[in-house]
Amino acid sequence: ALEKRIEELAKRQQHYPEVKFLSYKDRKRILVTGGAGFVGSHLVDRLMLQGHEVIVADNFFTGRKRNIEHWIGHENFELINHDIVNPLYIEVDQIYHLASPASPPHYMYNPVKTIKVNSIGTINMLGRICQNSPLTCMLFLKGLARRVRARLLFASTSEVYGDPEVHPQKESYFGNVNSFGPRACYDESKRVAEAMCYAYAQQEGIAIRIARIFNTYGPRMHMNDGRVVSNFVLQALQNEPITIYGTGKQTRSFQYVSDLVDGLIALMNSNYSTPMNLGNPDEYRIEQFASIIRDLIGSKASLQYTDAVVDDPKQRRPDITLAKTWLNWAPQISLTEGLNKTIEYFRNELHVKHHSERN
Ligand code: NAD
Ligand code: UDP
Ligand code: UDP
Repeated sequence: ALEKRIEELAKRQQHYPEVKFLSYKDRKRILVTGGAGFVGSHLVDRLMLQGHEVIVADNFFTGRKRNIEHWIGHENFELINHDIVNPLYIEVDQIYHLASPASPPHYMYNPVKTIKVNSIGTINMLGRICQNSPLTCMLFLKGLARRVRARLLFASTSEVYGDPEVHPQKESYFGNVNSFGPRACYDESKRVAEAMCYAYAQQEGIAIRIARIFNTYGPRMHMNDGRVVSNFVLQALQNEPITIYGTGKQTRSFQYVSDLVDGLIALMNSNYSTPMNLGNPDEYRIEQFASIIRDLIGSKASLQYTDAVVDDPKQRRPDITLAKTWLNWAPQISLTEGLNKTIEYFRNELHVKHHSERN
């Protein structure tokens, strides 16, 4: 049985996507926390193809092995089942710190945990605050980034702007966030994580990068994610009513995942260390967005207006002047192109789901 398994693995070895060869000096060891999630897995694909060594740390709360299974066993790839609320000691050159539930239903499911993930989890990545004697502290308790002087990119969010009174949102806008409401566990813990990055950079000289990510969509989004793209596409594909929360006049701007991955890698490798927006400035009213998806699919789904959600931001659109100037970055994928790829993905997921339910 063992021989058979080894043979199987050997066969699989030949089916890895082809990765570029990098010389020892160009090859980096890169940790991606949350690398089994939607954005993380696309980032992992890109870094692997570029020829780097990639380590994923994920506790599979919202991520899935399936998102990265095509790399399992590859000599440049390592998967660690790890909850980042606990410290992690490994030596790396760069850390993309993405671990955190991201969709409102997921981050509201266990708000205390969400706060822990973004606060304690980020401290763990930056360098632990030490309550023991200075000696033990020096020997054991220096956290990851500090110990190995890795550069850390933190996945922040447009939610740090809250329900913005300034439109579009520039990085210099301080935001309008409710610290005492259902979204606070996410918004405020992302904000404190940014503050931690700043403090560790000033005090400890850690190299940090902060990406304020705006709404992103694409294949590998979680089916029950509850976010607007997955909900609308799945509803339209199944001819179920498309659920619009509130008036549908609230706006969002949607970025396709490959554009975000380009931006994250460019930001990490730039020398820009204050927060930077990464998003697509194409802005849509949610009800308009519902019609676009319905038309692309050719669905007969109706639009169903339901109660508004608490503290739902009324408008959101990134000002991306900074990213354009410093990274020479701008989104490349149009909404139609991105949505078509996403629709294709969900169509297939539904097919797989129905098939496995029948068996
Ligand atoms: P996702 O839920 O698909 O991915 C998050 C990943 O983090 C999952 O694999 C999950 O299992 C993992 N994770 C959660 N808690 C963890 C823990 N305690 N320890 C280890 N791993 C843990 O979400 P995503 O859309 O890929 O988001 C990735 C990052 O980008 C998040 O930090 C999110 O806040 C940020 N972000 C995403 C968007 C977006 O529109 N997708 C927008 C703004 C910010
Ligand atoms: N969990 C998670 N991320 C979340 C919410 C929940 O990983 O944002 C999972 C986690 O894997 C754990 C379970 O939910 O197994 C319950 O969380 P836990 O009781 O560990 O939270 P804590 O004790 O840290 O508050
Ligand atoms: N939304 C909606 N119907 C849904 C899911 C979301 O009308 O089934 C709305 C939601 O109220 C918000 C927008 O779509 O105004 C984007 O929601 P999402 O949860 O995707 O992300 P957010 O930007 O709020 O974090």
